[in-house]
Amino acid sequence: SLSGKTAIVTGSNSGIGLGVAWELARAGADVVLNSFTNSPEDYALAAQIAQETGVEARYIQADMSNGDDCRALIEKAGSCDILVNNAGIQHVAPIDEFPVDKWNAIIAINLNSAFHTTAAALPMMRKAGWGRIVNIASAHGLTASPYKAAYVSAKHGIVGMTKTVALETAQEPITCNAICPGYVLTPLVEAQIPDTMKEYNMSREDVIKNVMLERQPSKQFATVEQLGGTAVFLCSAAAEQITGTTISVDGGWTAL
Ligand code: NAD
Repeated sequence: SLSGKTAIVTGSNSGIGLGVAWELARAGADVVLNSFTNSPEDYALAAQIAQETGVEARYIQADMSNGDDCRALIEKAGSCDILVNNAGIQHVAPIDEFPVDKWNAIIAINLNSAFHTTAAALPMMRKAGWGRIVNIASAHGLTASPYKAAYVSAKHGIVGMTKTVALETAQEPITCNAICPGYVLTPLVEAQIPDTMKEYNMSREDVIKNVMLERQPSKQFATVEQLGGTAVFLCSAAAEQITGTTISVDGGWTAL
């Protein structure tokens, strides 16, 4: 059980981050949810997790595009045994037309934030004598697709940072790994299905199999619960010697 551990999950008021927070809470960890917003719904999510799992759950607003905010999130949480760097955004455009502000935002949120949170969290982990860093990378941390230059660069970057942090902590009771999801059924993806059905005049099943999961051999989405379960595994005793590596949860995408 992860009882007594505090887990901070960046970008966790929806999608994978929220799913990971739920699974860590179900495994007994106290959790800190985060996003850049400050709405009643954000705090209600934390209250719901606390109520249903019995752990302590808090929401702390912090903008992961801002380095000082990233470090303040860790400081405000007060302790950090498990750090899940999950916050991320996407933008799709050819590189010669890629908006500079989008490039900068993607590198800041998807890559730089993990540098700042890791730097702030490591001293706490060392003091506690235990730590787990789980970076949510992507199949795009290992392979590329056209028109996703910023995202692919940031995700390859975080895989590199994962290996470096693992080496710097190799002789300590701290591990650092990356999870590389393929296509995951988040509310964001679900919302695209009806429009895509219309656009291609296809059934829901055909849109999922032939458009969305074209590159995912299993022809099934990964779920946020499966990603949460993978994060819980990386925090378990069985994973003590797993560090500096990637775990793909991609239905075979990167085997192609
Ligand atoms: P999502 O949009 O549902 O979640 C992104 C989260 O990041 C949200 O909670 C959002 O509030 C937060 N966020 C965005 N900008 C932020 C900022 N400036 N400061 C703080 N929080 C911010 O998307 P998701 O699919 O759950 O993505 C989560 C992570 O998983 C991302 O890093 C993404 O690249 C990665 N990923 C997703 C998929 C997929 O198919 N959905 C596949 C591979 C990797």
